[in-house]
Amino acid sequence: MAASTGVAARAVDHGFLAEVISAFPGDSRLGLCIQCGTCGGSRPSAADMDHTPRRLFAMVRAGMRDEVLGSNTAWMCVSCYYCAVRCPQEVHIPDVMYGLKSIAAREGRSPESAAPDFSRTFIANITRYGRSYEIGLVARHYLRHFPTRIPGMAPAGLGMLTSRRMELRPHPIRDVGGLRRILGRAAELEAGR
Ligand code: SF4
Repeated sequence: MAASTGVAARAVDHGFLAEVISAFPGDSRLGLCIQCGTCGGSRPSAADMDHTPRRLFAMVRAGMRDEVLGSNTAWMCVSCYYCAVRCPQEVHIPDVMYGLKSIAAREGRSPESAAPDFSRTFIANITRYGRSYEIGLVARHYLRHFPTRIPGMAPAGLGMLTSRRMELRPHPIRDVGGLRRILGRAAELEAGR
């Protein structure tokens, strides 16, 4: 339930943290975040996020629903899980990002940026390979929207490749056809057929 603070004239939703936690199945551990900032230094797409994950999670706690759902941060997450591996509190950061995108999509909200296109490319990769293909996702997105930034990203990308946080080639799952049938049926159910 949103309520005005009166002082800053900013809508504060005191139930937003609980809503975000329940937006994804399982325990995201978001409530255990200690604001250390480790996740912020682990993002291959950091340059395009308008808030670090640490700041975004603080905004969730503060009930800044409009600002959080209007942010492009969750949409720019590439689901590499590097932040989740390094988080001292084992917060399931990418899952929280999925939860935030789910709430935003349900409400027909998307940031005024290239972020929704990023999400579409991600979904196309999932449909094609059955799993995320991070380097293909980042390469296609940057070639399309921010080609001049590619040289500056090379060191981070190289580091993730050598530490095997990203694979050079996609590795499709065994039964991509089966997954596509499931996704097709899910789309039918969503459309009420
Ligand atoms: S690394 Fe984990 S504990 Fe630290 S700010 Fe990010 S989510 Fe919070």
